[in-house]
Amino acid sequence: TPESSSTGAPVQHNAELFERAKHSIPGGVNSPVRAYGSVGGTPRFLVEARGAYVTDVDGNEYVDLVASWGPAILGHARPEVVRAVQEAAARGLSFGATTPSETELAELIRERMTAESADGVLAPVEKVRLVSTGTEATMTAIRLARGFTGRDLLIKFSGHYHGHSDGLLAEAGSGLATLAMPGSAGVPAPIAAQTLVLPYNDLDAVRTAFATHGDRIAAVIVESAACNMGVVPPEPGYNAALTEIVHEAGALLIVDEVLTGFRVGSAGYWGASLADGPAYMPDLFTFGKVVGGGMPLAALGGRAEVMDYLAPLGPVYQAGTLSGNPVAVAAGLATLRLADLDVYATLDAVSARLQSAVSQALAAEGVAHTIQRAGNLFSVLFSDTPATNYAQVQAQDAFRYPPFFHAMLEAGVSLPPSVFEAWFVTAAHDDVALERIIDALPAAAKAAAA
Ligand code: PLP
Repeated sequence: TPESSSTGAPVQHNAELFERAKHSIPGGVNSPVRAYGSVGGTPRFLVEARGAYVTDVDGNEYVDLVASWGPAILGHARPEVVRAVQEAAARGLSFGATTPSETELAELIRERMTAESADGVLAPVEKVRLVSTGTEATMTAIRLARGFTGRDLLIKFSGHYHGHSDGLLAEAGSGLATLAMPGSAGVPAPIAAQTLVLPYNDLDAVRTAFATHGDRIAAVIVESAACNMGVVPPEPGYNAALTEIVHEAGALLIVDEVLTGFRVGSAGYWGASLADGPAYMPDLFTFGKVVGGGMPLAALGGRAEVMDYLAPLGPVYQAGTLSGNPVAVAAGLATLRLADLDVYATLDAVSARLQSAVSQALAAEGVAHTIQRAGNLFSVLFSDTPATNYAQVQAQDAFRYPPFFHAMLEAGVSLPPSVFEAWFVTAAHDDVALERIIDALPAAAKAAAA
């Protein structure tokens, strides 16, 4: 793999730092995909992120298409957000007590999760609880669904990632897809046995599971649009049909919008999907990433009747020293307030331009590919045939991605270091940033073709 920077200088400090990190941190990283395991080479140690760019310890600047895996919807270090964080920090980093701003954020989330449908205005998020990570949000939503229904089984879909709690690591996407791990060691078999894993976009599989285990299934958890095995959107009407099956059986539907929420549209993928599809009302949603504006903050929200099962009102326990942390809430509030309809229009336009440039470059080199998209999120599948499930995603020519990735990196563009991740654009990707990406594509496509 190439080991030179965008300026042609050797990747010196990055390599030294990686060796040093590996002595004190397992694999040198605090989250597995950062280790570049599936693309090879040396991870870049970042020291600054601003607008559409990140800078590594050697002073190399890259146009960034990772966006911290989603949160940086406005671009990195947007001055208004940074100011809000600084002002909140100056008033105290953490109180471990109720604050006025956490109610403002809960109200804003409720307001944003309102959408017009053929059935009138839908507002499925009546109450919100703030937590610190997406993992906590999904873990709590599942405990809540079990507490509410008095049932134990959970259905998840193959290739969907919902964080790293025990019951959710079976056939999960993201880092597990990247490392080709079917699950994780350390999950007790009785816990794993509470999760049924089904193929995505296959309603008959869901019907069969409910026919067999119906009265034992507490919930189905689904990514609003799957984005952790690369992007695999739900087939038209899939989420609505799923809701119907789940509700008929007295179970709850948890729609995971940790990645898509407030990124693909003002009311997440759920809101966007109502524009041209049937109405549906999930019981619970999970949010993360954008909702914290780059700080550790996530949330779950949904029907008041269900949410009120949480302590202190109800019997389902959940808590957190840093839940609703005032500095994180300030970042989330500032980010959501700035993410207006113009921002979403910009994200859509940037994404569309990039998708067509990538496709053109790959086509010019005769590389079989499909651009898989869900709103402004997209990824490149190295196959002519679009994928609708995990098995199809795994059958692609994944070996083409590492040389493509490294050619882009060498030209100063930072892509997700795995073919199983979405590409994230920001509203700060202006013409200059886009042209740098587009200029880098022909050589990368050539590398992918080799
Ligand atoms: N759910 C989805 C859909 C995600 O994409 C992620 C993270 O990528 C999570 C849950 C877990 O969130 P976190 O990494 O904040 O724990």
